[in-house]
Amino acid sequence: MISFEEARAIVLDNVQVAPKTRVKLEKLQGSVLGEPVLASYDLPHFDNSAVDGFAVCLPDVLNAAESSPVEMPIAGEIRAGDAISGPMPSGSVYKIFTGAPLPEGADAVVMREYCVENGQSVKIGRCPRSGDNVRRRGEEFLRGKQILPDGIRVTPSVIGLLASLGQASFMVHKKPTVAIVSTGNELLKPGKNLTSGKIYDSNSFALTAALEALGLDEFLPLHCREDVNETRKVLGLALDFADVVITAGGVSVGDHDYVKPVLEELGVKTLVYKVAMKPGKPLYFGLSSLNKKGKRQYIFGLPGNPVSALVTFHQIVRPAILKIMGDTGENSARLPDRFKATLQSDIKRLPGDRLEFVRAVVSTKNGDLVADTCEGQDSHMMGGLALANALIVLPVGSSGAAANDRVDVVLLNWHS
Ligand code: AMP
Ligand code: MG
Repeated sequence: MISFEEARAIVLDNVQVAPKTRVKLEKLQGSVLGEPVLASYDLPHFDNSAVDGFAVCLPDVLNAAESSPVEMPIAGEIRAGDAISGPMPSGSVYKIFTGAPLPEGADAVVMREYCVENGQSVKIGRCPRSGDNVRRRGEEFLRGKQILPDGIRVTPSVIGLLASLGQASFMVHKKPTVAIVSTGNELLKPGKNLTSGKIYDSNSFALTAALEALGLDEFLPLHCREDVNETRKVLGLALDFADVVITAGGVSVGDHDYVKPVLEELGVKTLVYKVAMKPGKPLYFGLSSLNKKGKRQYIFGLPGNPVSALVTFHQIVRPAILKIMGDTGENSARLPDRFKATLQSDIKRLPGDRLEFVRAVVSTKNGDLVADTCEGQDSHMMGGLALANALIVLPVGSSGAAANDRVDVVLLNWHS
């Protein structure tokens, strides 16, 4: 058995950042940028109005005030999308709308709230400062400036920014394809009638959802009965298809746990097996031999208990997937990996030899972060994990913690 930290380090040392590929804007959500993005032109592209109002030359309206407005003829109207007009005929103003190009020669825009329009003329009730209500060309980014670094996760706001650059596609890291293999004779697909001794397969759905939350979208779901030949066949299929293979169940020391021996028979090199973590002790990680495409695949064998499968996914597989995706975490909603919260009730344990993750709900109380443990901490009990937003981390050898102790907490963030 190796420590949790050692296991995670071995996994992260052995997975490589995926190569890059070009993807259309429409398909970018959930990807990670594979190159820095530069401004292809000045942003904004031209001086334009930030409000609805009147474009003025300052010398014309120097004396304008609410009590003594200056009346000016309206030379015309400029709407968003119109071509840049100008120069402004002196002694006149242009009626202008938000986003419309500022006419040449105009110094500022006076908001229409300070103006009284009267047919062909308008009374201007404010003297603006130069540049008021004008969005200047290049004020956000000058052409050639780096807008986003490599390794940024593409979020809706990143997509908006990228689209505003006018480019139809961008380089991102290739998303890994994943085969998800659930093992066990007891498993039924949800929707089927429950029969004696059977349970519904929850792991393949939960793991697929966890991978989708990270932005992945190409999966091969497989099921495998506890039979050595079937395990060979199914794991062979999984290795034919996927960059990453995740199995659930069949990896502990039972007579019918064939995953590890069959993987090794198929040329997979075991790098991690049995980790001092609770839940999750039988966790497996291996590297395939070079496949037909000259690539190595990563194989994670997760324990079958649903809580163990998801906690080991969150703590070990998720960071590995983020590395493969090239995610540097720069724009992800991440709190520090671990933080402290005040425990609300005692946790009693017999000192053990594993790091323990206790399902918890973290909230604020009088401005302090507090942690309440969830009901049902056994690793087959999904109710607590479904409500949890965090895991309390009890160190190896801990005999629990008392109410009001400050405990280590990791946030159960599924999206990054
Ligand atoms: P195993 O790791 O195969 O020994 O399985 C441990 C426990 O997890 C057993 O109670 C299994 O029935 C249960 N289990 C295994 N796979 C799944 C699954 N896909 N969905 C729900 N429970 C599972
Ligand atoms: Mg099993």
